[in-house]
Amino acid sequence: MRIILLGPPGAGKGTQSERIVARFGIPQLSTGDMLRAAVAAGTPVGLQAKAVMDSGGLVSDAIVVGIVADRIEEADARSGFILDGFPRTVAQAEALDRMLEEKGLALSAVVELKVDEAALVGRITRRAEETAARGLPVRRDDTPEVFKSRLDAYRIQTAPLSAYYATGGMLRTVDGMKPIDAVTAEVAGILTAAVEPAVS
Ligand code: AMP
Repeated sequence: MRIILLGPPGAGKGTQSERIVARFGIPQLSTGDMLRAAVAAGTPVGLQAKAVMDSGGLVSDAIVVGIVADRIEEADARSGFILDGFPRTVAQAEALDRMLEEKGLALSAVVELKVDEAALVGRITRRAEETAARGLPVRRDDTPEVFKSRLDAYRIQTAPLSAYYATGGMLRTVDGMKPIDAVTAEVAGILTAAVEPAVS
């Protein structure tokens, strides 16, 4: 099963991905997590990505596509994966299509979490507060100012992906404003239907 989870920052992609991992036994490939790990490790990719990430912009397609191409080659991703935060531009989506085609693989589903943008700043502020309360480091880009830039990047560069995948007949939309468990149930239903053979 190969899945893309789409949605603006703060829509709950990370939370839902974790639940899909637990339920379907496929790894979560989060480009945000991979880039943060590269920044923390001070790798060449991390050094290039850090300033862009801190400002809420998007890291270059070439860097991100390279990271994903390497990651999907790893053994745990052979039987499937959930992509969280990738693709984020039409160029990335096209690169992913090419990567999968070269391997004779196809996507199972693209699920978009639709959320009320006005609610997102509140969500992200709560996420930062809860993380700090648990004594964990807060993401540097989870401030209201940087979050606004991340939302702008989403609107301009990522939102067109809905039309890209709708055209290919892949897109399924879920109301991400529902309670977390209800969203999970809906996403799981879509994924189960996507991998079950069609009943005629
Ligand atoms: P995320 O954890 O998905 O919110 O990503 C955090 C930050 O990492 C984003 O604001 C971008 O700067 C960068 N990033 C993550 N995924 C991508 C991607 N697919 N393309 C470009 N930049 C990305």
